[in-house]
Amino acid sequence: MFDRLFSLFSHDIGIDLGTANTLIWVKGKGIVIREASVVAMHKKTKKTIAIGNEAKKMVGKTPPSIITISPLKGGVIADFDATAAMISHYIGVVHEVGNVLPVAWSRPRVVIGIPSSVTEVERRAVWEAALSAGAREAFLIEEPMAAAIGENVSVFAPTGIMIVDIGGGTTEIAIISLGGIVVSKSLRIAGQEMDRAIVHYVRLRHGLIMGERTAEDVKIKIGSAFQKTENRRQKTERDKEKTEKDPSSVIRHLSSEKMAVVRGRDIETGLPKSLRLTEVEIREALAPVLAEILEAISDVLQEAPPELTNDILTHGILLTGGGSQLSGLDQLIVERTRIPVVLSEDPMTSVVRGTGKVLEDNQLLQRVKVVGGLK
Ligand code: ADP
Ligand code: MG
Repeated sequence: MFDRLFSLFSHDIGIDLGTANTLIWVKGKGIVIREASVVAMHKKTKKTIAIGNEAKKMVGKTPPSIITISPLKGGVIADFDATAAMISHYIGVVHEVGNVLPVAWSRPRVVIGIPSSVTEVERRAVWEAALSAGAREAFLIEEPMAAAIGENVSVFAPTGIMIVDIGGGTTEIAIISLGGIVVSKSLRIAGQEMDRAIVHYVRLRHGLIMGERTAEDVKIKIGSAFQKTENRRQKTERDKEKTEKDPSSVIRHLSSEKMAVVRGRDIETGLPKSLRLTEVEIREALAPVLAEILEAISDVLQEAPPELTNDILTHGILLTGGGSQLSGLDQLIVERTRIPVVLSEDPMTSVVRGTGKVLEDNQLLQRVKVVGGLK
């Protein structure tokens, strides 16, 4: 009876607690919050200064008295207090935005998507954090499951589905069948590792020290995993057309890859320097990281029962997560695995959309939750 009363005033909330981004879904409203998973706090007092995008802006620029924390570094809860502060902050914000009763009175139901590598102890910890943040009930579901549900895949069918979610700190690879995760792997290599690879490459190759934020910008702007090739007919037609007009244009086309100018500090002089980077260089820098992701995909495929592998060969790999937006990544996976790839249309929201669907359907929630219910 009280439960029903509470639910009249509360917003049921779905949370994608990602390593790079936190997204919040409110039942009946959709996505209301998209913020970086970063918390800035005073080093000594641990007092929170900023949460989300505000805090991300401070990364790499803080004085010694302030630290910025990614609470979910590498897919594990690196800082429990910061994670709890973040959950509690957003539950509060959602209620303010909704202009309803304060959290303490309204007591929302909360579904949280967590990386599958989070340990049992940490799961309990997140669950408790949600309850202490004011949730009436808190449920945890695994991110690959949430992502698959978000992508409208029928997870209960006796068909193997492979999902690869390349986030910021982790790449979650899972094969789902009959409503459960059959094989999975959580690799601590994803988007942020790509940024670090660019930093590393530029330092070695050009003697320039650049920040990871700058590297991320470069990756998004000109990063690619695969050299684009047109199909032969398109190419011959274009070449013919161009060479007729200007015979040197074929050569020019070969060098038409994208470029970006970056600023950093010269390793020798210590002074600011700017540099022009090409798409080819970034592809070279990213290659080792992508090779590891591909290897993990192969590992999971090899561990899968043959019947499921067959299904995956037919239906393809579902690719999602912010990192999957790297240009040509789908082509690279197809080339290396010989398995078709289906790209999510909105890869950064698959998990949170999944939590939203689960909020609407209690039966589904009960079937896919890994932790949850009343205390
Ligand atoms: P998480 O679920 O771990 O929070 P997300 O799914 O939000 O991660 O993805 C964040 C990652 O996606 C970041 O590393 C970011 O740099 C990367 N990313 C975002 N857009 C692009 C893009 N266009 N190309 C390549 N990487 C991208
Ligand atoms: Mg994610």
